Formats: sequence, structure tokens, C-alpha cells
Amino acid sequence: MENYIPISSINTFVYCKRRFYLEYFLGFRTDNFYTLEGKEKHSDLEHWTDGGKYYKNIYVYSENLGVEGIIDIVLIKDGKITIIEEKRGRRAEWENDKFQVLAQAIAFEETYNKKVDEISIYYEFSNRRRYIEKTEDEIKKLKEIIENMKSIITSGLVPKFEYTNRCEGCSEKEVCLPEFTLIKEED
Ligand code: SF4
Repeated sequence: MENYIPISSINTFVYCKRRFYLEYFLGFRTDNFYTLEGKEKHSDLEHWTDGGKYYKNIYVYSENLGVEGIIDIVLIKDGKITIIEEKRGRRAEWENDKFQVLAQAIAFEETYNKKVDEISIYYEFSNRRRYIEKTEDEIKKLKEIIENMKSIITSGLVPKFEYTNRCEGCSEKEVCLPEFTLIKEED
């Protein structure tokens, strides 16, 4: 949908708002070891869906949030709907993964007018799932994140460079240099 924010960008924004800018505005999608591995997601679905029926790559959108995206897996078992986002790596409490899958769940409910019973992230390396609570508090935080993303999109100003421990593993670090002068930074 026109002007809808990709749900996967929520993950990028929470990871680093400057990275979101580089990818959203300038189209940088540099791959490094981690991102390439992340594209090779081959979880053993038959093993852990436990006889449930599953659907892959389901498109969803939310007019209320102004977002759209793809859900990796929708699992239906015993009348219960579970959405699952597949990630490489080990199970961890990453905030960026949480808000991405939360937005997916809200968009699924709006697109299909059906309640999501369970929201989860599957971490391939540790072969474990993390379950996400859809609380009012988390929904409020998600809405604030999306509003902040929209502010950046409207202003067109790149967030300032700020070195964090995430920079070392970031696939955009080669283009995200403090002396990178093609873009105008916010004040
Ligand atoms: S190198 Fe650091 S500041 Fe730049 S986009 Fe990546 S995480 Fe963000």
C-alpha cells in the first residue's frame, strides 16, 4: 500500500534509527555475514509445528498503524492461531524482534479480522521459541516507535551518527561513517 511503512523496518528502526534512514531513504541494503545467514532460514517446520496446519509468507497490513508486511508463518492448531517470525541466532530478548512481531500480529488481526492467540519468534540456532505478550503498554510503545519513524520520514533528516556496540555487527557500517557527507544530518 502506498506510504505504508514496511513492518520489517520497525525492526531496523529499533536496532538503529540511522540504519533505518540509510535503508529507507537511500536504499542501502548491504549484506554482511549475519544478514546473509539470516536469509537462509530453514527451520524444521514439520518438527515443531506438531501436526498443526501452517501457511508461509502471509501478507498483512494495518490501516491504523500505517504498516504492511509479511508474516513468516501462521500456524493453526486446535483452532488456535499462532504467528511465528523466524530468526537466525540464539533466543534473546531483542526489543527490535519483539516490536516487529507485535506489529505483525496487530496487522494480521486487522487484515483477517481474526484474533491471534499466540505471538512468537523462533530462533534457529537455539531451536527455541520466544513468546511475546500483547499488552496495552507494549502496543503504546509500538505506536510511539511508528510515530517516530514517520517523523523521520517527514523531516527527511538523517539521525546523527552515534557509535554503539551494535555498529560492529551492522551491515551498513561501511556507508555509515561520521564523515559521510552525502546526507544532511539533523541538528
Ligand atoms: S554503523 Fe552503527 S550508527 Fe551506523 S547504521 Fe549501523 S548501527 Fe547505526
